[in-house]
Amino acid sequence: MSKSPQSNPKERDFSLVNIGQLVTNNSSLGTGELGLIENAAITVVAGKVTWVGASSAVDSSLPKVDAQGQSVLPGFVDSHSHIIFGGDRSQEFAARMAGVPYSAGGIKVTMAATRAASSADLKANAQSLITEMYEAGTTTVEIKSGYGLDIETEKRSVQVAAQLTDEVTYLGAHVVAPEFANDPDAYVDLVAGEMLNACAEYSKWIDVFCDRGAFTGQQTKKILEAGISKGLLPRVHLNQLEQGDHIQMAVDLDCASADHLTYLTDQDIQTLARSQTVAGLVPACDFSTRAPHYPRGRDLLDAGVSVSLSPDCNPGSSYTTNMPFSIALAVREMHLTVDEAIYAATMGGAKALRRNDVGHLSVGANADLVLLTAKNYIHLAYRPGVPLVQKVWKNGTLMFTKGDQG
Ligand SMILES: [Zn+2]
Repeated sequence: MSKSPQSNPKERDFSLVNIGQLVTNNSSLGTGELGLIENAAITVVAGKVTWVGASSAVDSSLPKVDAQGQSVLPGFVDSHSHIIFGGDRSQEFAARMAGVPYSAGGIKVTMAATRAASSADLKANAQSLITEMYEAGTTTVEIKSGYGLDIETEKRSVQVAAQLTDEVTYLGAHVVAPEFANDPDAYVDLVAGEMLNACAEYSKWIDVFCDRGAFTGQQTKKILEAGISKGLLPRVHLNQLEQGDHIQMAVDLDCASADHLTYLTDQDIQTLARSQTVAGLVPACDFSTRAPHYPRGRDLLDAGVSVSLSPDCNPGSSYTTNMPFSIALAVREMHLTVDEAIYAATMGGAKALRRNDVGHLSVGANADLVLLTAKNYIHLAYRPGVPLVQKVWKNGTLMFTKGDQG
């Protein structure tokens, strides 16, 4: 998704005027942490933000787009998705809702469908999910492999992901492949060896599902260190299913994010607060799996931890691409303020991907803009389930207009 859309650069030059309320996420440009400007305008040249200020002071030489008093914010940054897969697990979802507990083993159902799918089919499925993301305001997405669990399919998965985003994550360590059920350490050796060698050139990140039924802390450390030695940057799934004791390891390895964190001790929160590791919260997954509770988002923010929000789109435990839904859950269920949830969905995601060109609308940032059909961004949490995104630009190119069938 962060691949630049192909178009004439001149078509990208415009000013968006008459913005009722602009979220810049730059407190030096406006009020509060969100850097709010009322009656604002923003100018875009060659895909970048070139000026932000009062609508009355805008450069009149650029073509104008009229926001008609509605709210504008930076495109959402989704730092955690699993959208390279075949098949569908609607039956498993229905069974889970009827009382069957979620376990990491369901991943193998998707594995079989993914191995059987062509790369073209995997790409088409992922592209349809990315279209949904645009429709809900997401303009940057990280995409993981992890449903191949063999060298050939993991390689195809990161190759497909690399055609769709710059933020590709190699997740050969999603679960132990069934062929290695009796020798998980041999699978760890494969993931940290030959499979890594096949996938590294297409990947920026390496990730491991460190949890009950997936990988131990020791196995996780071995795999992440192997990836780091190949030039990949680490991130990790932790503490979704039970209270583990590996937060310190994630911080010591300088993981850009530790994701899920449904179970956290006070000590874990303090450890994160002293680190650069972002707490990647995925409340739609806790929602969809009917987890016993949501992550301690309020406590994380109170301790000074950077927090990101992501729908965690995947076919098993959270089959939604919708960031506004995650914002609504974060506010309702994790007691983030609306401002904190908006910040987490934009700047938080950028921090989790260690990007400084997205997630905010300062001069020089990518012109990734979301125009709402609402006077202010609070509506994103206040009106859950309502499609409030009117237009979306990525790098200054219009990617979505509500009601446009084209
Ligand atoms: Zn995940």
